[in-house]
Amino acid sequence: MNKPTTTTRFAPSPTGELHLGNARTALFNWLLAHRDGGRFLLRIEDTDAERSKPEFTQQLMEDLQWLGLGWDGEIVAQSQRGAVYREALDKLERAGRVYPCYCTPLEIEVSRKSQLASGRPPRYAGTCRNLNDAQRAAKLAEGRKPTLRFRVPEGGRVEFIDLVHGEQRFECADIGDFIVQRADGSAAFFFSNVLDDALTGVTTVLRGEDHLSNTPRQLLIAMALELKAPTYGHLSLITASDGSPLSKRFGAKSLRELREQGYLPKALVNHLFRLGHSSDLHDLLDLQKLAAGFNPAHLVRSPARFDPVQLEVWQRQAVHALSAAEALEWMRPQLPATRTADEASAFAAALHQNLLLPSDAAYWVQVVFGDLPAHDAEGLALIHAAGSAFFAAAANAVATHGTDWKAVTTAIREQTGRKGPELFKPLRQALTGRRDGPELAPLLKLMTASRAIARLERLSSAAA
Ligand code: GLU
Ligand code: ZN
Repeated sequence: MNKPTTTTRFAPSPTGELHLGNARTALFNWLLAHRDGGRFLLRIEDTDAERSKPEFTQQLMEDLQWLGLGWDGEIVAQSQRGAVYREALDKLERAGRVYPCYCTPLEIEVSRKSQLASGRPPRYAGTCRNLNDAQRAAKLAEGRKPTLRFRVPEGGRVEFIDLVHGEQRFECADIGDFIVQRADGSAAFFFSNVLDDALTGVTTVLRGEDHLSNTPRQLLIAMALELKAPTYGHLSLITASDGSPLSKRFGAKSLRELREQGYLPKALVNHLFRLGHSSDLHDLLDLQKLAAGFNPAHLVRSPARFDPVQLEVWQRQAVHALSAAEALEWMRPQLPATRTADEASAFAAALHQNLLLPSDAAYWVQVVFGDLPAHDAEGLALIHAAGSAFFAAAANAVATHGTDWKAVTTAIREQTGRKGPELFKPLRQALTGRRDGPELAPLLKLMTASRAIARLERLSSAAA
């Protein structure tokens, strides 16, 4: 038999915005499919009608596209597949592999508590496992709405090899009969998830570690339906850098928030690639190169620590790699609408290498197009040390040579005898209010000679 084409999928429940954790799951599945020239599917697990929202589906599609993680073929929406699930459930019912359970949530909870109290791991007590027809009719007559439970074999075990965690073994006796159809008639997660994977030819599932204990149940379902289950790899959780759960402060920001802040997709995918996946690739890479370098054998078992500083490092590199036109698009929301297209492009070109996020441009918009913010104490000291004669010479040089940086600095050097940092540090401070920042030559052009002269002249009298 031919080896089936690698088919992976991302199967989010549209009950909220995508975060870094889901984005990494999507990325790894995409990379694996693309590495093997296979298929990456998108399935929307929206069977929970109350919590699923179409706007979340819309948003996660946008987020995936923004990250560059396009999918193959039609999107499968589980809410549209009731008939498929019904048919498979009927099959299990006919084979006696599922049975109706009439227990109420309250009864289940009471049983759970008493098992816990006597030191046993809680699982379904089997109350409805062997009811006869008359007993079932009586329960129904009480107005109870049944769920369907899967009849877990009494002996034996489920074994599988997890791509991340290696050999896994679960005793059937510990599993407990579980719900495959909710009281409202909808298919439960365990059921629709594995059924759809099998029916759409999914070969490999990379998903969060929180699903590891679901896997034996899903394998039992696949076996009962004589379907081929995928190979699973359960990804370690992402924690904050101190090992605590991701907090709202950073890591738990949604993808949308990060995008709105100006994080670039390339920075995010490069960061996520290295979260829980060890790699000797250290450069900023595009998705195709990341795919070539992706290896499930390098998925790490221990929790992956999210380090915002590391993300910033990738972001700086990704910003650096922007073309002038891309940089302009990226920071456009920060630019005053009154500027001409040429000014805006020149500004973006001069600035973008120095920014982490577009909002960092606000200061420079002010410097170039507005009034200079006040000098800080260190700046004032620097100005004082340079002395008023220096700024008088500088004002004079700009008045003579305009915004020709080379001519201006040559003139100042000749006038004052200062050179190197002695010349540039106070000049930068006077013109920009800072001691570091983008190259001065293009900034001078953008701010115009008259702004520069005003800034320098003010110091030529006040600094004395
Ligand atoms: N809808 C499930 C989730 O978002 C999918 C789990 C899986 O990938 O199998 O957690
Ligand atoms: Zn029951």
